[in-house]
Amino acid sequence: MGAGVGVVRGHLITLRRFLLTFWRDWKTGKGFSRRGGGALLIDLFHGPKRGQEPTVTQDYRTDGLFTVEYPDERLPVYERYRVLPVLIYDADDGNVRCTACKICAKVCPPQCIWMSQAKSPKGTVLPLPEDFYIDMDVCMNCGLCAEYCPFDAIKMDHNFELSNYERHQSHIFNLQDLLVSSEFYARTHPEAWASADEVSERNRVAKKRTQWLQKVLASAPQKPAESQAPEAAVAK
Ligand code: SF4
Ligand code: SF4
Repeated sequence: MGAGVGVVRGHLITLRRFLLTFWRDWKTGKGFSRRGGGALLIDLFHGPKRGQEPTVTQDYRTDGLFTVEYPDERLPVYERYRVLPVLIYDADDGNVRCTACKICAKVCPPQCIWMSQAKSPKGTVLPLPEDFYIDMDVCMNCGLCAEYCPFDAIKMDHNFELSNYERHQSHIFNLQDLLVSSEFYARTHPEAWASADEVSERNRVAKKRTQWLQKVLASAPQKPAESQAPEAAVAK
């Protein structure tokens, strides 16, 4: 058999499958539907609203070519899917859970986390971050920071649509970029949020944090009772 016959035969098989798929879709009335399995008609001018795109999955009922027409269609995002870390604050009292203990920065394999600790006006350190940075281009999405955080403060998020036109400054997320509420986390990770492990972890962390705050407040230098002393002296 001459050289190249196998290649031609392979192409013919592909062409046959390609034509058969379109013919079958045409016959079953799916010719103008989106091909990711959704029932949505192809609309060249008005796609679905952003954030309301249908999610499509390929299962045993999906017939023919399967192309997810992103961004008009999306694959489902599963709860354990992880992209980048976020910092949690409690929605009920606004408490930022992070205590700037720096454990996440120490365990981060590519060393893309750094932070500074907040200080009181008197210069004593406070169990809070003054600022917190993660270089998103260096982060390798391993989730170790979230695993090791003793305060349940850093979690992995699902957002993967992070592209933009500049990567030197806008991809270094600061505290404001990273903060999300516990409500948001509960919404995006309902199973984890309700799990017995997370509930007991939340309670343990809340207790630990209260104890730490009490310790910090107790060790803060006490104000001398000078405000009354001069008055007392004057009175005398
Ligand atoms: S996120 Fe967790 S591990 Fe990292 S500094 Fe804050 S409290 Fe410590
Ligand atoms: S997910 Fe991994 S690489 Fe990214 S910040 Fe956390 S520890 Fe570092």
